[in-house]
Amino acid sequence: MSEALYEVYAIKYAHHVRRAAENFIGGDPHDGPMPLDYFVWLIRGGGNEIVVDTGFSAATAARRQRNHLRCPTEGLRLLGCNANAVKDVVITHLHYDHVGNFDLFPAATYHLQDLEMNYATGRHMRQPVFSGAFDVEDVVGMVRSNYAGRVRFHDGDAQLAPGVSLHLIGGHTMGLQVVRVATRRGWLVLASDASHFYANMEQVRPFPIVYSVAAMVEGYDRLRALAESPAHIIPGHDPLVLERYPAPSDAMHGIVARLD
Ligand SMILES: [Zn+2]
Repeated sequence: MSEALYEVYAIKYAHHVRRAAENFIGGDPHDGPMPLDYFVWLIRGGGNEIVVDTGFSAATAARRQRNHLRCPTEGLRLLGCNANAVKDVVITHLHYDHVGNFDLFPAATYHLQDLEMNYATGRHMRQPVFSGAFDVEDVVGMVRSNYAGRVRFHDGDAQLAPGVSLHLIGGHTMGLQVVRVATRRGWLVLASDASHFYANMEQVRPFPIVYSVAAMVEGYDRLRALAESPAHIIPGHDPLVLERYPAPSDAMHGIVARLD
């Protein structure tokens, strides 16, 4: 364990009602409601503020029929984090629900895996089965950001700060990365969409939006290897996160969970 310890927060900004069968390859024998929450995450400590993913806008929510609750930057503001001043934003992958709103972080460097940009701009995007969860304007925006010198590419695992590292998992997309953070309760892993729900990784039943099923399933083991315990892995879209972790204050109940 390194010396620096961080606070970590999950901030819910949107919600979507769907059935369990839509969340697993092969469906679900007990098909019932299994909604998704949408989160961004804040890592804070040692004078650093690192935002993980940037969510999507109200306009995108309307287009994709998602229930938009608040701009992710408003959620960050509840924690005293000013999006205009954030210097480091980790983009776990380029799907619309993780990289929309990137323009609301004008001072940030975006941390992205080489493979993710290759995927989002490469041969597979001619197929709707792979391109459906990308918004081409977000992808073009990241290309423009790179030309402006604002993207820092990583090729596999990388150290972002003492006690904060990025790890290439792939699976869900070609270049999906997760974030490992040193906290007071041990190594925490923000899994993003390496596991949408606790159930995906715990029951080894992969989510159906996927580039490589094999890499996704291998990724579940990788998450467990990186985390202090299975209870230190934070899935990307599970409403249980807000039930299992406390709000930092009553006013943030149902919006923010403190994960460390
Ligand atoms: Zn997602």
